[in-house]
Amino acid sequence: MWTYSFEIPILMILGIILLFYYSRPRLPIRRNHTFIMMVVTETVTIVADLLATIADNDHREWNPVILDLLNMFYFAAFFMRAFVMYRFAASVLKDRFEKNLFFKHLIRLPFYLGVVFSVLSALFGSEKHHYFLYYVDSSGYHSGTLYNLLYVAGFFYIFMALLSLYLFWRCLGRRREKYGILLYNLIIFVSLIIRLTLPKYLIMDTFVLMAILVVYLAFENPEFFLDLRGYAFNRIALSEHLEENNKSLKLRPLGIVIHSFNEMRDIYGGPQMEEGLAVIAKYLRQHIKKGIVFYCRNGHFIVLVTPDTDLESIRKQVADRFMQPWRSRNAEIYLTVGFAEFEYLKSVSSPDIALNSMIKALDMVGMSYDREPLKITKDFLIRAEKEFRIRQYIEKAIDDSGFELYLQPIVDAKSGRVIGAEALSRVRDDEGKIILPGEFIPVAENSGRINELGELVFDNTCRFIKEKGLDNLGIEWINVNLSPAQFLRIDLADRFASIAKSHGVDPSNVHLEITEGALIDDSFFQRQIKALTDKGFMFVLDDYGTGYSNLARLKRCPFINIKIDMSIVWGYCTEPDAILPRMIQAFKDTGFTITAEGIEDEKMAETMKKLGCDYLQGYHFSKPVAAEAFSGTVSEIRKMQC
Ligand code: C2E
Ligand code: MG
Ligand code: MG
Repeated sequence: MWTYSFEIPILMILGIILLFYYSRPRLPIRRNHTFIMMVVTETVTIVADLLATIADNDHREWNPVILDLLNMFYFAAFFMRAFVMYRFAASVLKDRFEKNLFFKHLIRLPFYLGVVFSVLSALFGSEKHHYFLYYVDSSGYHSGTLYNLLYVAGFFYIFMALLSLYLFWRCLGRRREKYGILLYNLIIFVSLIIRLTLPKYLIMDTFVLMAILVVYLAFENPEFFLDLRGYAFNRIALSEHLEENNKSLKLRPLGIVIHSFNEMRDIYGGPQMEEGLAVIAKYLRQHIKKGIVFYCRNGHFIVLVTPDTDLESIRKQVADRFMQPWRSRNAEIYLTVGFAEFEYLKSVSSPDIALNSMIKALDMVGMSYDREPLKITKDFLIRAEKEFRIRQYIEKAIDDSGFELYLQPIVDAKSGRVIGAEALSRVRDDEGKIILPGEFIPVAENSGRINELGELVFDNTCRFIKEKGLDNLGIEWINVNLSPAQFLRIDLADRFASIAKSHGVDPSNVHLEITEGALIDDSFFQRQIKALTDKGFMFVLDDYGTGYSNLARLKRCPFINIKIDMSIVWGYCTEPDAILPRMIQAFKDTGFTITAEGIEDEKMAETMKKLGCDYLQGYHFSKPVAAEAFSGTVSEIRKMQC
């Protein structure tokens, strides 16, 4: 006699899980469909098990064909459940394991075999033909020779789930998800072991219920994907959706952006704005038929609509609605919106890039009050993709200290000897090609990693000075560029001083080049300058002529040298004027030394020398060279002068 009363509460708990699951909006993605399959298959398995057990307990009263069929359903559902449990892990891991078609079919084989044998058992199983999964005769149900195929399939799918988790562990960002997959598979593993060793204890379904609960809590709680009181999906949901549908994006994204969102939030206050956003999300959900509404913070909505949707009429309808205030319980807010349309999203190579370019485009819309929608062109996406790749290279370079130090000689105008150098950093892409700072410095500034980058360059320069010795190279100092964003770091002086000290380098040997951008906040600038000067650092003003600083302001800064930007130098050399000579004279009278940048030929060198420039830098003497090649370059320039 089998007992089965415990199956009833399990069915009830499964019902509660489904109830909660369906009470909130759900995203139409593979893993969610698989979760439903998981719960349904478990329910079918339990019901088939229950009915088969009831019939078997009283087999004389039941038609053997029905008994056969019930068992067939039970066995088929058992195999299906094992497969679906594996499929859940596979869909979370975006089917990376099943990219290979051969593997894909191989993995399905135990499931197909199980179903085929379940049917064959029902059709042909008997005491004589007992080599199937089971058979039913006049004395009721009996296990067949191949019964253990259940365990083989069960263990196989756990193994496959764990193997794919191991192989693609790094692809999962969230710990909750990594350990969720591990835990639910271990639970099923234990249940199979107990079923195998202690067949009298019918606790497999209780364990499967535990596994389903783990899946629900770790992955499927709809709240993970919701924002604005459940009226919109969040950014995680959008990235999941894009990741799954990027290649065949059937839905078209429409960006709806609240203008000057941060300022508006300051005016209305955070809670009131949140309320208002929820009302807006509700409106968008109700009025954009078949659209999926996502909210990506900062007043950015993205609605995925079907290709046949008339975007223009939606835009008009939404813009009209924004002419009225948004009212909720305790909020009445007036906002204006802009729109972005994405035509070519399919052409980007990864969902991360698609998401990043969308956010970037929405940022642009948020700052402009243009009535026309911003159409995202292919060029925009190509630029966004490039930027994204550069960000990856920078991150890799920061993590592996992969910045290369290049040095460009600076020549004393009178003697022609190399007197100093400028440190310029380089990063390489995957193919080993050099990326220039003009491309990666702005990306590092935007992504907030410029401080780490700057410290690495400074550290590399100090190490170079320590290893080679300035005296041995015949130079007096090396300039290091400092970005304005770096200059905002409050402990900059301490950090740089301690790096210099750790290499035994005198801070006065490393001149810090700053641009006029760092001068914006005068009082903060003066404080930073003082802190760095106290530690012994000296300053050079870079790219003079491209910003807005005036002589009065410069006088208050302890620059030892001013570098005239190459655009000014080139301008003067092609079309001489009276301004540059007077400017240089004024600087010299004030006590600054002058460097002319971008000297590309002998004539330019002569012209700048005549104007009174103290130092010259440019391709005429040498392009920036890898640090190892620097001493060779210095010798070559020396020979050239002789
Ligand atoms: P910069 O500080 O004005 O550096 C001079 C730039 O002009 C260098 O470009 C150099 O290769 C280039 N250059 C020098 N002489 C000539 C010439 O005769 N003709 C031409 N056409 N170009 C010349 P690079 O290395 O591409 O650096 C560009 C800018 O990126 C630098 O301008 C600097 O502002 C920034 N940068 C470079 N390395 C770093 C760094 O480690 N940290 C920071 N914050 N900025 C850096
Ligand atoms: Mg510079
Ligand atoms: Mg410069």
